[in-house]
Amino acid sequence: MVTKTEKTPISIDEMAAFCRKRGFVYPSSELYGSLAGIFDYGPLGVELKNNIKKEWWKTHVQQKEEIVGIDGAIISHQKLWEASGHLSGFSDVILECKKCKEKVRGDVFIEDQLKISTEGLDVKEINKITKENKLKCLKCGNDFKEASDFNLMFPVHLGANKDKTSIAYLRGETAQLIFANFKKVVENSRLKLPFGIAQIGKAFRNEIAPRNFLFRCREFEQMEIEYFIRPDEKCPFINEVLNHKIRIYSTEMQKHNKEDKEMTIKQALNKKIIKNEWHGYWLAHEHKWFINLGATSENFRIRQHTKEELSHYSSDCWDLEYKFPFGFKELQGIADRSDYDLKQHIKHSNQDLSLFDEKTGKKLIPHVVAEPSLGVSRAFLVFMFDAYDYDAKRDNVVLKLHPKLSPLKVAIFPLVKNKPPLVKNAREVYDSLKEEFNCLYDETGSIGKRYARQDEIGTPFNITIDFDSLKKKDVTIRNRDTTKQIRIKIKDLKEVIKQLLEGENLSKFGKYIN
Ligand code: ATP
Repeated sequence: MVTKTEKTPISIDEMAAFCRKRGFVYPSSELYGSLAGIFDYGPLGVELKNNIKKEWWKTHVQQKEEIVGIDGAIISHQKLWEASGHLSGFSDVILECKKCKEKVRGDVFIEDQLKISTEGLDVKEINKITKENKLKCLKCGNDFKEASDFNLMFPVHLGANKDKTSIAYLRGETAQLIFANFKKVVENSRLKLPFGIAQIGKAFRNEIAPRNFLFRCREFEQMEIEYFIRPDEKCPFINEVLNHKIRIYSTEMQKHNKEDKEMTIKQALNKKIIKNEWHGYWLAHEHKWFINLGATSENFRIRQHTKEELSHYSSDCWDLEYKFPFGFKELQGIADRSDYDLKQHIKHSNQDLSLFDEKTGKKLIPHVVAEPSLGVSRAFLVFMFDAYDYDAKRDNVVLKLHPKLSPLKVAIFPLVKNKPPLVKNAREVYDSLKEEFNCLYDETGSIGKRYARQDEIGTPFNITIDFDSLKKKDVTIRNRDTTKQIRIKIKDLKEVIKQLLEGENLSKFGKYIN
């Protein structure tokens, strides 16, 4: 039901201002000067964020027979992060000004200044490029010190003793809790390969340069799956996505400075651009999840990691990217992690995490063929950017969110507030609808102003109780995107709204009256 029109593009700063003004997202601790990269979600933001997570969980866990979920703790043992490699290797390269001590993230700084790709560059390369190009501190114009690695993990002390042994860590990603609980979850849920374990939860990274609003935060949430297979196991779901079209940006296209190209997953597999059917399946599955929730297909592409970007244990990796106002950027990585993580935890914990495979009668350590890992706040931005539309005719913003994501589903208005029977009737409608839908009752301001307020925060349907309602026991219901209205009997409202929220057209339930 979402009607797309030509959009007015807005910048990330304008989006941040809109979110703050309308109660979606606030800078955290703002009373005391805020903290960079940390945000609070307001009354509408918490609803939208919860709806995104609910839809993700439904599609990725509840509707997938072979995937189960967990909810791991936020603080975890230092040995867990030692085993995963985060304590030694989870770092970004920092450049610090010799004079004013300003610190910037090396790869991002170089990318901004020189407009070149810096994916996968290490300390040495960042140093070399900085020197060769005579890059200086933007604040005071002086030279940088030698570049160095900066670990992104947040240590915390547990208990009253503050020594080395009391250090634990805020998790840098949700994935490691999946590996750490792997054996118990498999046994409890009697999982048979191939299977996935999913999780939604907070992650913390001490990002050197948090920026672009919700895109790069220090505290954020991830929605993540570790998908386990027998090595070389075929993807049984590939037929579901073979005809799915997506913009593809392979390593070859990047090397030869070519544009990305739209093709079907089948074409990409036949041409051996995507080599692994599992990756084809997950990339399409994730893209479909966004477009089924109203995002614009052409704003996404999948980009293959170049050799320099690949981790030593990963044979192939693709990112699902979205065209943000500041360029195509990663939303989600689909990496092949082989048996690296489980083997690390076996080595460091001295526990047997292998499985008995009934098919072969042998023990094996399953491989992670894909790790769809999506930041909630990046998904939040995608839906907001694709929904935001300034309507010149109405002279206000219309936030065309998919009804499943809209913070409020229905707003209910008496035509005027000084006629007690209208108010009583509207209150009764509100009381009955609020049992099933997130609703709002509003009697202040002209009806036009009330419609505009709801359009701006994405409420898909507005109900007005007018004088005819008292006689006919019906209401008008208005579609946010078209402004079209019909009349509906009050007794049928719940059922009609249910169908409308599933995407049914308003005209199915009555004749337009405007
Ligand atoms: P980037 O290259 O953008 O720093 P990454 O490759 O380090 O991301 P992963 O470790 O693969 O990211 O994390 C998985 C997902 O978690 C990312 O694709 C992104 O959606 C989200 N994510 C990662 N870091 C942040 C952050 N600082 N703020 C918000 N979301 C994040």
